[in-house]
Amino acid sequence: MANRSDEYDKPLSTAAEHARAWLRSVNERPVGPRTAVDEIATRIGDELPSSETDPAEVIDLLAATAEPGLMAMGSGRFYGWVIGGTLPAALAADWLVSAWDQNAGMRYATPGVVALEEAAGRWILELLDLPRESDVGFVTGATMSNFSCLAAARYRVLRDVGWDVDADGLMGAPRVRVLVGAERHDTVDLALRYLGLGRPTVVDADAQGRIRVDALRKALDEIPDDAPTIAVLQAGNLHSGAFDPFAEAVSVAHSRNTWVHVDGAFGLWAAASPSLRDLVRGLASADSWTTDAHKTLNVPYDCGIAIVRDSAAMRAAMGVHTSYLVADVGGPGDPHEKAPELSRRARGVPVWAALRCLGRAGAVELVDGLVRAARGIADGVREIDGVEVLNDVVYTQVCLSFGSAERTQEVTRRLIADGTAWMSGSKWHGQDVLRVSVSNWTTDDDDGSRSVDAVRRAAASA
Ligand SMILES: *Cc1c(COP(=O)(O)O)cnc(C)c1O
Repeated sequence: MANRSDEYDKPLSTAAEHARAWLRSVNERPVGPRTAVDEIATRIGDELPSSETDPAEVIDLLAATAEPGLMAMGSGRFYGWVIGGTLPAALAADWLVSAWDQNAGMRYATPGVVALEEAAGRWILELLDLPRESDVGFVTGATMSNFSCLAAARYRVLRDVGWDVDADGLMGAPRVRVLVGAERHDTVDLALRYLGLGRPTVVDADAQGRIRVDALRKALDEIPDDAPTIAVLQAGNLHSGAFDPFAEAVSVAHSRNTWVHVDGAFGLWAAASPSLRDLVRGLASADSWTTDAHKTLNVPYDCGIAIVRDSAAMRAAMGVHTSYLVADVGGPGDPHEKAPELSRRARGVPVWAALRCLGRAGAVELVDGLVRAARGIADGVREIDGVEVLNDVVYTQVCLSFGSAERTQEVTRRLIADGTAWMSGSKWHGQDVLRVSVSNWTTDDDDGSRSVDAVRRAAASA
């Protein structure tokens, strides 16, 4: 057979050149995309080409076609949703993962990448000070992490009342009660929907969006003693950045045999920072935890992390147990027993590279740097006439109001048109807001002051 390996050379160097050019431009180009999907679709055309094209030429075409429609999400002045940037080591590792093209589902099939993912998992538990016996699964994002953790929870709470959901499904099963805070992320509801658990019971939150422990206690009191129950808490509210009072909430829930899951898609990383310790007191006493690596840790998409203390429950919920997959019962477990996918890319490897590069000090500084930048922006915009910072800035999120809904929307439009910075328009507690979410490792003081100036310009003209 011919050795075709040299056929990779040109398209890979072409891609590397385009990648470098993109990365060089990302902090200086206008942050928003310059065109819309339809316009690019027209340029792509409807027809599948009838014959072959040179691979490097395809890469040139790809870059030229997509680029005007890309958002500079890697910019230090991109504060939309919660997106995160990409650390250099993580990006380069991600390229290698693609080149290696390993199916990372099984330990014996690819010991190289599984060992790296397992090391990354241990480092995360250590950095976030979560129970070291937990299973760590690498999934596509926090949505699937919420799904995976809640699947383990569903298995366990039903098993504890004598029902085997793996064997007998949900039809005829005792009803599983799920309690969530009023300001949980919508993907918690989505995960519950995937799991057949229906709509959760909503527990009141306080002004910062934290679950109220008295309301949680009351909601638990209304549930019969022996009913299988799950409570979902949150580390990092999308609007305020607030953290639920874990120590009190977990202790109330555990006193009623309730599994406690924590959605910490971007907030779980606060546990890495000694200066944020007060926010996460009691976090480690929960039963499962969701986080993303593609947000705060700044690895490329898509990479989420599912952490479950009860590894038997996780493997019962996620594992594929069939003759050709040799499970090593009670041992470290195969990757496919900790994630919904059987086959997947080695997405934990960029996490290893990020943590190997940062070390503990770098990881702490990454988190502290984001918080510092958020506070800097909040302090800067407070000086602008007619701006109100609506939340206590305890973490990476800042919510702004410019008075009326119309004015806030107009300032948002002007800010985005200006192109210097990108922030999300949103609604919080029924009020229109402009939300700043700092999640990129490159955001520095200069980005902060340029962004504050951009808000000032937008507010002055609106
Ligand atoms: C982003 C986010 C999610 C969903 O995460 P994906 O990675 O987009 O699947 C869930 N919960 C919270 C709190 C989030 O911020």
